[in-house]
Amino acid sequence: MSEAAAKPKTFLGVPVYKPKVAFFELTSCEGCQLQILNNEGTLLDFLDLVEVVKFREGMTGGTDDYEIAFVEGSVTRQDEVERLKTIRKNAKILVALGSCACFGGVNQLKNRFPLDWVKKEVYGDHPIDTAPVQSLEEIVKVDLKIYGCPIKKEEVERIVTDLAIGNDIVYPKYPVCMECKANGNICLFDVGEPCLGPITRAGCNAWCPNSRAGCWGCRGPADECNVVQLISIMEQHGFSRDTIIDRLECFGGFAAYADQLRTGLKP
Ligand code: SF4
Ligand code: SF4
Repeated sequence: MSEAAAKPKTFLGVPVYKPKVAFFELTSCEGCQLQILNNEGTLLDFLDLVEVVKFREGMTGGTDDYEIAFVEGSVTRQDEVERLKTIRKNAKILVALGSCACFGGVNQLKNRFPLDWVKKEVYGDHPIDTAPVQSLEEIVKVDLKIYGCPIKKEEVERIVTDLAIGNDIVYPKYPVCMECKANGNICLFDVGEPCLGPITRAGCNAWCPNSRAGCWGCRGPADECNVVQLISIMEQHGFSRDTIIDRLECFGGFAAYADQLRTGLKP
C-alpha cells in the first residue's frame, strides 16, 4: 500500500471518521442494494464517506469486522434467522433496508395462504425449506429503518451521512399526499385511481403519483395517519373493498388493516 493510501483521511487536520459498513441480503430481489450501486453520480462520494467491508452484490471477499450492517430482505427460512442473529451480534447499528426488511414487503403476501399450498404451487416437485415471512424486528432489535420498495438512494446517502457525522436521523412525518400536492399534481382520486398517498410516509417525493400511478404504500404508515378515514374516502369514490384490501396488504406496512377489512370489521 502506498504511503498516501495508508495515511488517514483528514479535513482541516482532523481525521475523518469512516464507519465500517456491510450489506447483507435475506429473502429479497436485491433491488434495494442495486439502488445504492446504481447511484453512479454520487457513488464515489458515498464510498469516500464509509469503508465498505462486505457487499456481495458489489465486491468479492470481505470481513465481519463492521459497525453498521444494512440488511435487505425478510426472513423466510431458519438459516436466515441464525444469520440475522449473527449479524446483529457483530453490528453496533443494524439498519433494515427496504420494505421487505421493515415489514415483510411483497414477500409477506405469502402469509395470506396456507404454507403447504404455497410450497406446492411455487416449488412443485422441488420443495425447499420455507416458513411464514417475518420482518427483521420480529427476530432482532432494529436500530434504524430505511423505507421503500425499492429504497431511494438519495435517502440512504443522507442517512449514512447523518450516521457518519453523528446527526439525528430525521424522517418526514407527513404523508406522500403532501409531496404530491407540492409537485402540483392533480389528485388521482379525481381520475379514478386508488391511492394510499394520504396515509403513507413521505420521502419518495411522490414517485408514483408523479407518473399518474396511485401510491401502494411501500413506505408504510405516516405518523398519526388516519387509515379508517382513508378507507371511508376511497369507498365514497367508488373503490371496492377488494381494491382497497389489495393496496393495503401489498407491502406489509398496512397488512393489519387489510386483515381487519377482510374479516368484515371496520379497522
Ligand atoms: S424492498 Fe422491494 S426492491 Fe427492496 S428487496 Fe424487497 S422487493 Fe426488492
Ligand atoms: S408513491 Fe407510494 S408506492 Fe410509490 S414509491 Fe412512494 S411510497 Fe412507494
